[in-house]
Amino acid sequence: TREKISTQHSTSVIALPCYVAGKPIASDKVLEVRSPYDNRLVGTVALAGATHAEQAIAAALKGGPKLTRYERYQVLEKTKQLLIERKEEFAQVISAESGLAIREARYETGRAHDVLMFAAIESLKDDGQIFSCDISPSGKARKIFTLREPLSLAVCITPFNHPLNQVVHKIAPAIAVGTPVILKPSEKTPLTAIKLAELLYEAGLPHYMLSVLLGPTKEIAEPLVKDNRVEIVSFTGSVAVGKHIATTAGYKKVILELGGNDPLIIMEDADLDKAVFLAAEGAFRNSGQRCTAVKRILVHEKVKDAFVEKFVVKAKEYTCGDPADEDTKVGTVIDEAAAIYLEAVVNKAVAQGARIVLDGKRRGALLEPIVIIDVPRNAEMVVHESFGPLAPVLTFKDIDDAIALSNSTAYGLSSGIVTNNMEYALRFVKELKVGTVNINEVPGYRIESSPFGGIKDSGLGVKEGVIEAMKCFTFVKTFSMPW
Ligand code: NAD
Repeated sequence: TREKISTQHSTSVIALPCYVAGKPIASDKVLEVRSPYDNRLVGTVALAGATHAEQAIAAALKGGPKLTRYERYQVLEKTKQLLIERKEEFAQVISAESGLAIREARYETGRAHDVLMFAAIESLKDDGQIFSCDISPSGKARKIFTLREPLSLAVCITPFNHPLNQVVHKIAPAIAVGTPVILKPSEKTPLTAIKLAELLYEAGLPHYMLSVLLGPTKEIAEPLVKDNRVEIVSFTGSVAVGKHIATTAGYKKVILELGGNDPLIIMEDADLDKAVFLAAEGAFRNSGQRCTAVKRILVHEKVKDAFVEKFVVKAKEYTCGDPADEDTKVGTVIDEAAAIYLEAVVNKAVAQGARIVLDGKRRGALLEPIVIIDVPRNAEMVVHESFGPLAPVLTFKDIDDAIALSNSTAYGLSSGIVTNNMEYALRFVKELKVGTVNINEVPGYRIESSPFGGIKDSGLGVKEGVIEAMKCFTFVKTFSMPW
């Protein structure tokens, strides 16, 4: 086994409330948050109910002091500073509640730092446009100007896989434009989200600007999605829930960032050491639980054997074990049920003729990286999203075949291509039906302010990333004047 076992953990339990506009709620219903690694109690959350959802809406719409651009900048900048000071505390909570390796949790705090920094900077910028109207034969001596107004209320719903980064990617852009948010984070990883809200309040965010609610889906998430007073629902999560929201949200803006099934495509001219590194980082980082993780490795048949030989050696470096252990590279997946599902899809692929070349043991929610080759194109593990440290390898015969294979799933989030051939690179950029094409990088490569988001089942093509998300949380007003 490649698993290391140790049992050194802090035993203090973090007890947190939900917040209605900055006010902690009292409740006798409590959510227990347990470590996916050893099932110990990490924390508790006092749960909200339907009346709290109603109070949160009322408080947000009643409003309060409107922040100037400079004040919004100050709140975001101060939150960033507080996060830097408490980086280790946040990393420990992320790791404890999600089972992600502590090194991944620390990396995530760095990403959240960037989100806050970019949102702070962007809050100072005005992207208003000016149109002179005397520019056609029928023109007039007027000018048209644009300005952005914040939406009155946003509901943001986030998944478990990056307990901090998913949440900050919703809240920071909304604050940057002055839109109040009701956040409904994942029940699987609520502690980090609530601690971030506390950081924002501490940094001076007016309380009406943020509520954080967790509770029964029928009392919190679903009514909030349907409520006519909510002007935008911004959701990141699975395709199934995203499509459900699309049908229930009614007449309002809906942002959907859904699942992915991203390929790493390795051409015959690829630098194989680079391909091996990108495949391993893409497939195994964050326990394979990134929307943009490498979920299919597509290799040109001429270099498949050489690639697989090196890749198996590399994959063994991704040691799996106690998330709190400094040496652990791969922590748990989110829970035992997820690990059992992943084992099952591997077994089904084997029954269809695939071969395991690096087997991974499972213990509870811990699943060691698995490398599996000769995976049939119709295997469940590559047709649907497998959210874990699996590395299925498929082959193609030429670039046409690679493009067809890559485009063959229902998803269209991102992609990575390993080639030094400019013609190949350009064809992939033009012909892949995805939101992003990264040449000689993992599909997940981005900066936090660049446009990000997918098409097909991965999303409606509306981008997030700090700058685009800020646009989502506003509407554009035009006004014109004689000139
Ligand atoms: P999920 O869809 O199960 O849950 C996401 C959120 O939706 C949770 O907060 C959950 O409580 C809430 N929810 C559940 N039912 C709901 C309902 N009926 N109405 C409203 N909200 C409801 O997703 P998950 O398992 O937490 O996250 C994993 C998924 O997220 C993967 O598919 C992954 O690819 C995707 N993801 C996408 C992106 C992206 O940017 N495209 C990023 C990260 C994760």
